[in-house]
Amino acid sequence: VPVVGPTLLAVFSYWLGAVPDWRLTIFGAMILFVVYYLPDGIVGFVRNLFFSTRRAALSVKKDLVKEQEAVPDAARGHGETLLAAKQVLMQCGGLKALNQVDLTVKRGTIHGLIGPNGSGKSTMMNVLTGIYVPTAGAVEFSGKSLVGLAPADIAATGIARTFQNVQLFGEMTALENVLVGLHHTFTTGLAGIALRTPKWKGEEQGARARALALLEFVGLEGMANEEARNLPYGKQRLLEIARALALDPQLLLLDEPAAGLAAAGNG
Ligand code: ADP
Ligand code: MG
Repeated sequence: VPVVGPTLLAVFSYWLGAVPDWRLTIFGAMILFVVYYLPDGIVGFVRNLFFSTRRAALSVKKDLVKEQEAVPDAARGHGETLLAAKQVLMQCGGLKALNQVDLTVKRGTIHGLIGPNGSGKSTMMNVLTGIYVPTAGAVEFSGKSLVGLAPADIAATGIARTFQNVQLFGEMTALENVLVGLHHTFTTGLAGIALRTPKWKGEEQGARARALALLEFVGLEGMANEEARNLPYGKQRLLEIARALALDPQLLLLDEPAAGLAAAGNG
């Protein structure tokens, strides 16, 4: 295609030399046509047409899904201190959004952070996940300081989160969103991916199986190939939880996880 395409284009362009006034207009129209109607290119268009979208080509082996334990047992190592935040101060301009907050979380426990709107719950999550760097105070996770680490590095140490305002990749499918959370499980380099080595295929299959298991865990297995932006709000929130769990976190932070979700039985 890369050889034939440019050759045809060159011939076409040569032929257009006969109508110099229209040349730019015609090329402009071609570009607009491609941008609007063939965003994946000609090959992508044909592939999507005949292979009912590359996304359906998931072909996940069912037995692999069975093998995967969606969410590992949280009770392991019960009781040890996982997170210790001490005297955290977060100054936003003239406002102390957090003022000398202490928070200790032990492994295997569940905590609720309760307070009215604007009391600093989301700010605390943003401090714990590196979105904000606290003005003062210490945040330690498994004995290691998190202050000043980038959000991605904090995620890599084992803290996953969801957001009060859903932050999904809208144009990617539910499954692909969870796969993003599984990014850390891939070790194949660019060359391996380009050459589609057996190692890469194995990792890809494993990750897809695990992503499906996570979707099943939050009850979204039937919507794996749905674009995230098309999911109802409540399901988007569940998808965020699945993506967070994909990180295999030691600590899971849920910012207002129940907002917008009806109780079971209310539809
Ligand atoms: P909650 O999640 O408990 O409703 P927030 O953490 O969102 O509360 O907000 C706590 C306070 O901090 C609010 O008064 C908010 O306006 C303020 N705040 C949070 N982030 C910022 C920021 N980046 N700049 C200025 N003020 C902020
Ligand atoms: Mg909030």
